[in-house]
Amino acid sequence: SIISNPIADNVHQLVDHFPLCMQHLYQNLCENHHLKHYARIQFNLFLKGIGLTVEESLAFWKKSFSEIDESKFQRDYAYNIRHNYGVEGKRQDYKPLNCMSLITKHRPNSGEIHGCPFREFSQPNLRTKLVQMGVRNEEHIREILNLAEEEHYQVACTKYFEITKGLLDKNNDNIIETIEHPNEYLNASVLLEK
Ligand code: SF4
Repeated sequence: SIISNPIADNVHQLVDHFPLCMQHLYQNLCENHHLKHYARIQFNLFLKGIGLTVEESLAFWKKSFSEIDESKFQRDYAYNIRHNYGVEGKRQDYKPLNCMSLITKHRPNSGEIHGCPFREFSQPNLRTKLVQMGVRNEEHIREILNLAEEEHYQVACTKYFEITKGLLDKNNDNIIETIEHPNEYLNASVLLEK
């Protein structure tokens, strides 16, 4: 049954390991019970990269789109979710999107929230988001904002990782390479906790 599924329910428990792009999508999904097209693709493929099966993914979206009834869900959303998993249409098995794709392709129009926040957010919005995510040291905030402004988005994301995981304080800031993929960010974060 797609109604109760432990893995779909447990996506929530992984949130602290999500990179900023996925945190942002997830927060919006929780608040609005909806995500637009490209945001859905971005997040769905990320879930696939985490290891959710197509059934688990469908259960997750069904639960998250709590204000949408079953027939509308099936009609408007389920097909695309399955399509990302390669079980519909051309049966192409789509890979989770890497940072370069998220930074350069299908850039969000106004009202859309997908893509890479280090690229898409204005400096004041990025500052607000960083503070909200617990980055409080002004020097750290400036460092990330400057990297984003200089278009070093992935380096900014890597710096954010190091700062929020407390790696700078331990003086071992070379512990990770530059982030290339949201799922790589998640995996590195999970590993650190072990
Ligand atoms: Fe996400 Fe990559 Fe941007 Fe980091 S650099 S926020 S992982 S798209």
